[in-house]
Amino acid sequence: MERNAHINKLGFGFLRLPETDGEPDWRAVDEMTDAYLAGGGQWFDTCYTYLNGRSEQAIRRCVTERYARESFRLVEKLPGYLCRTYEDCRRYFREEQRRCGTDFFDIFMLHWLNRENYEIAERVDEFRFLREVKQGGCAGRIGFSWHDSASLLDDVLSRHPEVDVVLMQINYLDWESAGIESRKCYETAVKHGKSVFVMEPVKGGTLAKLPPEAERILRALAPERTPSDWALRFVQSLPGVEVCLSGMNRVEQVRENLAPFPPLTEAETEALRQVAEVLRKGGGVPCTGCRYCVSHCPQHIAIPDIFAMFNELQRWPEEDWKIRPVYEQTVKSGARASDCIACRSCEGHCPQHIPISEWMRRAARTLES
Ligand code: SF4
Ligand code: SF4
Repeated sequence: MERNAHINKLGFGFLRLPETDGEPDWRAVDEMTDAYLAGGGQWFDTCYTYLNGRSEQAIRRCVTERYARESFRLVEKLPGYLCRTYEDCRRYFREEQRRCGTDFFDIFMLHWLNRENYEIAERVDEFRFLREVKQGGCAGRIGFSWHDSASLLDDVLSRHPEVDVVLMQINYLDWESAGIESRKCYETAVKHGKSVFVMEPVKGGTLAKLPPEAERILRALAPERTPSDWALRFVQSLPGVEVCLSGMNRVEQVRENLAPFPPLTEAETEALRQVAEVLRKGGGVPCTGCRYCVSHCPQHIAIPDIFAMFNELQRWPEEDWKIRPVYEQTVKSGARASDCIACRSCEGHCPQHIPISEWMRRAARTLES
């Protein structure tokens, strides 16, 4: 790629959609879909489990029923961890086709592969199912979303060279993280000649609002750029990245994120490394707000909402007059941070490997003091 060529690899993830009264705000999703396609975007992303099926419903209602199939591309994922038999894979796949209103997925993946789910995938022969779908003409390419170490990824890709695409978490804060191993996972996929799709480029919104010390570093280089803009540029500047999926919830955000930009310079990359250092020192829970943990909590604690408020209070202590009342309002019907019984049944479902019960104790001390 030419150094100054402008790029945009933005994909539209249907994981966090605007809602009204617990339902997707259909008008807003239509509007964002129209703006995304009109602005040159192509890729939509969904999964069986996103928003309890409402994400696939939104794909059908706002995309496949309103646009010709050849005018966009769609990524779908099989919840392989729910499959006990090969026939289950077929059953979920047929249901996904029905829910999305299409027979064809441009990319069909196993969702959330980690050590445990990989064992299930091998036991149920789910890679054979991916091949079957592709050979049957129902998928253009096949792959998986990855949530484990780079060394295990290396093993899986060595055993399954038929995979075309790996979807993984990359952002400038996790690039050198020992837990997420973004850089190592990226390099592993590239070494195996795989196309890389990216999730969490703005780390669930964490990188959209920076503490003043971090923001100053970026403003000194480009005062007009927003923190999200910087986060998206970091990911899209990686040559092995084909698509950078972003969950968006405002039409203005879609338009802003679609603006093409030049890849990062070395000075800009260095500035982001410094920002990552500031953020790491500032602490906070590395929660992306994916909500995978929530349905596993017997106490019905709004885990990501509480962590978001805890992080805000850590980073902007002077705003506690605003944050504490919101916390009280959020937990008014019970399920406070202090109601956590440390059962840890949420923790195995967290893709960020967060020791949720420990952080919940700290959140209770901070937010309820
Ligand atoms: S550890 Fe706490 S937050 Fe997690 S599931 Fe148990 S009660 Fe809920
Ligand atoms: S705690 Fe983990 S699983 Fe729960 S919302 Fe945050 S990142 Fe997702």
